[in-house]
Amino acid sequence: MLGIDGLTVEEITMLLDLADAYVDQNRKHDKKSDVLRGRTVINLFFENSTRTQASFELAGKRLGGDIMNMSVSTSSIKKGETMIDTAMTLNAMHPDVLVVRHPDAGAVKLLSEKVTGAVINAGDGRHEHPTQALLDALTIRRRRGRLDDMTVAICGDVLHSRVARSNIHLLTTMGARVRVVAPRTLLPSGIERFGVDVFHDMRAGLTDCDIVMMLRLQTERMRGTFVPSIREYFHFFGLDHEKLSYAKPDAFVMHPGPMNRGVEIDSDIADDINRSVIRDQVEMGVAVRMACLDLLTRDISPN
Ligand code: ASP
Repeated sequence: MLGIDGLTVEEITMLLDLADAYVDQNRKHDKKSDVLRGRTVINLFFENSTRTQASFELAGKRLGGDIMNMSVSTSSIKKGETMIDTAMTLNAMHPDVLVVRHPDAGAVKLLSEKVTGAVINAGDGRHEHPTQALLDALTIRRRRGRLDDMTVAICGDVLHSRVARSNIHLLTTMGARVRVVAPRTLLPSGIERFGVDVFHDMRAGLTDCDIVMMLRLQTERMRGTFVPSIREYFHFFGLDHEKLSYAKPDAFVMHPGPMNRGVEIDSDIADDINRSVIRDQVEMGVAVRMACLDLLTRDISPN
């Protein structure tokens, strides 16, 4: 599972249906099953992560698999080993699934060509973050009962965001209308080719939309100056109740986390349980990752 790009409506729907069932399992007193019994999952993270790594770990454990976490800070990469050497070393230990995050776009695909087990992309540079888009879709579908015929505004640092790319692929494939709302400096050139409508003004971009998806300002990926100042960015692009009032009255707010309060989102919105579904997204994340691990290990099962 390297990206959403290329997945069909049927494949996305199948993943979401399976994840839906795992939401129920996760709400039970006994959350454990043995779907991954005897299987090994390695979380190989070349870039920091809080929720994605925790979510994959919990997903694997709830399915009864053996899960190992490896992060760069404790690995031989620090001693000069290449990413491929690290992957080949781990591959020799026969993992059934490698969950990989890497700061470079395309690195996870490259790695997947060298190893024998299934590979899940947990985020590669600015390219894709497929399980994030799936968990966002599950959050929307459970709230609204569908993904088509609705307008989603993806706002903020689209340029550096793999979350935006995966969501644009998924939502347009499933028949939603997608808007991107950002300053010109934070949009990739040719973004219109992805089938989205482009806005540079929050109030115009949010008008009558059903869902407002906020993105973190990814300063760690920036080389140079992209916004005049954080204060000015918040003034024009930070989501507050006044700007949200342009969306539909029942519109809800999403954010992949981690949030920069007072930068892209006001705390009043982030913590408003009537408008923000950020906690739901985290819950859906575990279920979606269980569905991915389940399906991918079925495919490689020798039985
Ligand atoms: N957690 C998401 C990602 O890894 C979003 C972010 O970092 O802003 O891409």
